[in-house]
Amino acid sequence: MLIALIPSKRGDEGFFGLRIAQEMIEVIEGLCTGCAMCVPVCPEEAISCFGFAQVNDRCTECLICLEFCPLGALEKKKVQREGHG
Ligand code: SF4
Ligand code: SF4
Repeated sequence: MLIALIPSKRGDEGFFGLRIAQEMIEVIEGLCTGCAMCVPVCPEEAISCFGFAQVNDRCTECLICLEFCPLGALEKKKVQREGHG
């Protein structure tokens, strides 16, 4: 989910970029046991589990799944991407 657009300018002439701050759900593979308890709780069917959980781009960051993982193997993580303007 897009949460912020931050105008930025690099040294090269004529370049304007956008730093896009985005949040996503990440599976901590060292903690996930593949129990699949998180799979049915996701309203977007964004989680699959074959050995360990994976979250796809249908995720809307509703955070419901974080409450259901008994091992705390799901976390919200902020990532930044850069795009050209
Ligand atoms: S509930 Fe937690 S431990 Fe179980 S599959 Fe999901 S992320 Fe992994
Ligand atoms: S945060 Fe919500 S939409 Fe995203 S994977 Fe978890 S339950 Fe599904």
